[in-house]
Amino acid sequence: MSKLTRSPLTGEWVVYAPRRGRRPIHYGKIEGCPFCPGNEYATPPAKLLYVRSSDGSIHRFKDGDGGRRSDWIVRVFDNLYPIFSDSPESVYGYHEVLVETPRHEDKPWSISIDQQAVAIQAALERIDTMRSDPKIGYVLLFKNYGRSAGASIEHMHMQIVASPILPPRVESELSSYRDGCPVCMLIRESPSVVSYDDIVVVCPKASFKPYEAMVTSIEHKHDIPRTESYIEALAKALVDVMHRLRLTLGEFEFNYWLHYGLTQDHHWHIEILPKTSIWAGLELGGWIYVNTLPPNEAADSLRRSSLQHP
Ligand SMILES: [Zn+2]
Ligand SMILES: [Zn+2]
Ligand SMILES: [Zn+2]
Repeated sequence: MSKLTRSPLTGEWVVYAPRRGRRPIHYGKIEGCPFCPGNEYATPPAKLLYVRSSDGSIHRFKDGDGGRRSDWIVRVFDNLYPIFSDSPESVYGYHEVLVETPRHEDKPWSISIDQQAVAIQAALERIDTMRSDPKIGYVLLFKNYGRSAGASIEHMHMQIVASPILPPRVESELSSYRDGCPVCMLIRESPSVVSYDDIVVVCPKASFKPYEAMVTSIEHKHDIPRTESYIEALAKALVDVMHRLRLTLGEFEFNYWLHYGLTQDHHWHIEILPKTSIWAGLELGGWIYVNTLPPNEAADSLRRSSLQHP
């Protein structure tokens, strides 16, 4: 039985989910990868599948009882080892896995813009469904990439976790909107790396880690507009910054997450945190972060990286 416990000391939440200790680890070869086409029976039936037809249009399906389609381009299903679910033993919520591409060899910096865009589109579609559930407090979309970032499977995927509570981190961000929008302020005061239409990538002032990056809208918007052209610009910015980070850092591991706003006052953003340093006593015990690379230097190298390696 998993349950939510709040620390009386810090107000942070703990979910006990012992089953997650049993989840498999898969890195390296395609063989046996549970997220590759053809291996769908290793995972629960899909709640959402995107299938591309011969004229290029995308169609939505679900796996029926017992069956599994393998001609998908994006596949979303319940996490086999959920943190939240609708089972009576668990804390209510959703925990889904979104496989971003059928190609095992795709990397965050080499995936096609088109493929990244359809994966984002599917993620937003699932977020909208979960948000319409009145029992849900917030939906977190995030990506763990690499073992040190907490990913147990190498094949490119994101996770979507919807919980009954508003995560304290989000709550804390939302409380900083009293004197105006902090994201608009960050865009004004942080060095930018690249932009596509309304999407900008900055290295935020007060970055916690070297090469931390934020992807957000130049215009104040509380959420990502659900239009094809907007999502395509977002996919371009995301793949571009991943490519620049890869050129600068080599093969790197990272986490990113999406924070959308609850009201029009808030400003959506994606925070990308590469595993460039380890948080130790001062960071964990004091929430004071030692960063060896100022954001203007990080932004300089990210801007230059794609010129040096076209
Ligand atoms: Zn795979
Ligand atoms: Zn704003
Ligand atoms: Zn945030």
